[in-house]
Amino acid sequence: MVGAGIIGAAIAYFLTQAGARVSLLEAKTPASGASGASDGAVSVASKRPGPMMRLARESRAMYGQLAADGLLQGIYHPRPTYLFARTDEEVALIARQGAEMLDQQERILSLTHAELMQRVPGLGTHVLAGIKVPDDGHALGYRVVDRLLQAANVVPQRHTPVRQLVLSNDRVVGVLTDQGVITADCVVVAAGLGAAPLVGLRDFLIPRKGQLIVTDRASQSGAALPGPLMSAGYLAAKRRIVLGQSSVSLVIDPLTTGQFLIGSSRETGFSDRQTDVQTVSTLLREALAVYPLLARLRVIRTFAGIRIGSQDGLPIVGPHPTLSGLYMATGMEGDGICLAPLLGSAVADMVLDAPARFDLSALNPARLGALPLQLG
Ligand SMILES: Cc1cc2nc3c(=O)[nH]c(=O)nc-3n(C[C@H](O)[C@H](O)[C@H](O)COP(=O)(O)OP(=O)(O)OC[C@H]3O[C@@H](n4cnc5c(N)ncnc54)[C@H](O)[C@@H]3O)c2cc1C
Repeated sequence: MVGAGIIGAAIAYFLTQAGARVSLLEAKTPASGASGASDGAVSVASKRPGPMMRLARESRAMYGQLAADGLLQGIYHPRPTYLFARTDEEVALIARQGAEMLDQQERILSLTHAELMQRVPGLGTHVLAGIKVPDDGHALGYRVVDRLLQAANVVPQRHTPVRQLVLSNDRVVGVLTDQGVITADCVVVAAGLGAAPLVGLRDFLIPRKGQLIVTDRASQSGAALPGPLMSAGYLAAKRRIVLGQSSVSLVIDPLTTGQFLIGSSRETGFSDRQTDVQTVSTLLREALAVYPLLARLRVIRTFAGIRIGSQDGLPIVGPHPTLSGLYMATGMEGDGICLAPLLGSAVADMVLDAPARFDLSALNPARLGALPLQLG
């Protein structure tokens, strides 16, 4: 396994559950990539219709089961998502999203302005309408990584970047690290952007920076949300639609600690982890307009994480198109926390040649054609 983010940890967990022996190599430390610098929406409300919405529903159900089984108890928290709209165009967009969720048998509740104000006291008056998605949830990525690796009894080899794959004919038989070659029956690359040079995805992966703001606890302020407020602008960004009114893809997320996470920007092509005054102030201005009670809170931290997207907007998960013994799982963009249990289980099945339980055909790397490999 290459990469100890949430995807690598989930695959390692399901592989060990099935009896496989796993070595996990990590360039830095576990969850030091996107999995440790993100929000944790386990959300169907935010997904593009089609395979992503279907897979998110299946993965969210797995979160519920893993929490009930004790593995993710205290880490996965069910809670509703509230989509909201501020213009007629946004009302139409969330209505479309609602119809598509209904098509997938998702429970939703459409809310008028008055109904929304009643359910979410303190909401800004210019919010026109909303949709409640009752069955969503939340899990912080770094906590999931920690729990999965402990349960798998896998100790990642930290500060061990994989430099290249080792091949024998057209089969991958190991990896090269600074300490030498490590051989393996097969190699799974779940290294986010680090997968690009290793498996030939340089032309297909796109970094997209997201800046986030953390407030202090809301105890005295009266601010309390029953679930995250997710803007129609967020849906538009996922669907690659440009809305008439300029809008950040705002989400105001109440954490179980009583703090709020306010995010996030989507800065395509940026892979630095700096935050800047312009973006943070835009996010805060938009957040205050939607939920004015935030004004009483202190900002205690800002941070940025890097989502890794793909050219066609779908994750890249499955066997390498031409090299045997090599599997990849990357390009999760803003959905990797949500999809981790399903992808972990599905990739473990592929590696072990077990019958497939999920339809991942839309994510198959074969859709990308021949991948150039740079083998050093
Ligand atoms: C601001 C922001 C908000 C987000 N919000 C959500 C959300 O609400 N819900 C959701 O579902 N998702 C969300 N995401 C997306 C989610 O965080 C990612 O999709 C997910 O963390 C990707 O996990 P990963 O394991 O693929 O990658 P990563 O967590 O980046 O892990 C990859 C690991 O591979 C290691 N690595 C890289 N190269 C090598 C190498 N050569 N050798 C060894 N190791 C290597 C890295 O050091 C890293 O630890 C958000 C992301 C951001 C940035």
